[in-house]
Amino acid sequence: MSTTDLMHLLEELQKQNVDLVAVSKTKSVQQIRDVYELGVRDFGENRVQELVEKLPQLPGDIRWHMIGNLQRNKVKYIAPFVYLIHSVSSHALLKTIDKEAGKNYRVIRVLLQVKIASEDSKSGLPLPELKEILETYTQNSYGHVDIRGFMGMGTFTDDETIIRQEFQHFMSICKQTSEQYPDLFSDQPILSIGMSGDYKIAIEEGSNMVRIGSLIFGPRI
Ligand SMILES: *Cc1c(COP(=O)(O)O)cnc(C)c1O
Repeated sequence: MSTTDLMHLLEELQKQNVDLVAVSKTKSVQQIRDVYELGVRDFGENRVQELVEKLPQLPGDIRWHMIGNLQRNKVKYIAPFVYLIHSVSSHALLKTIDKEAGKNYRVIRVLLQVKIASEDSKSGLPLPELKEILETYTQNSYGHVDIRGFMGMGTFTDDETIIRQEFQHFMSICKQTSEQYPDLFSDQPILSIGMSGDYKIAIEEGSNMVRIGSLIFGPRI
């Protein structure tokens, strides 16, 4: 994407009050720096190893988002600095994040990943498990995690009808659960949904945080 196009995208998102996470997985430090220079501060990676390697080579005011499947034994490597973990898809993972955040004397913001795609390959919490986590979370003191909202990933398809249906499903789950826990979500919850191919639909359906990679950085090889 050209600089002009990127500036237009940033402007367009800002106008709609939608936060951008620039998904920089597989992209070089220099490519990230170029986008940083245009004012972007939120970057997303899906592999711990890659993120930890890039971290010291880039400015310290970048907000790093973990958006990919996260193994519990790797949480400790990102716990000292990660800004937001989008991909919490089990109670065990949430507990580990709480523990590792505690060791670093910090509170880590997280999103619960909701299962919306019919594809089995896409992970996420089915509604009963989602509720169970929120129930336990409100009753126990997890002092070091802050559940800020929800993340969703749709089926990889060109069929706009399916995408829209899944996003609407996501929104209704988020609305239902956040209304059930008003204390937890006194602020508007973060609704992280929409990628390069479907972010416009996601915003139309109510997304307030999009994760855009290939549109900004070019295709991943
Ligand atoms: C790679 C990835 C994205 C970005 O995908 P693009 O289609 O390149 O925009 C968004 N979210 C997650 C979880 C990803 O793994």
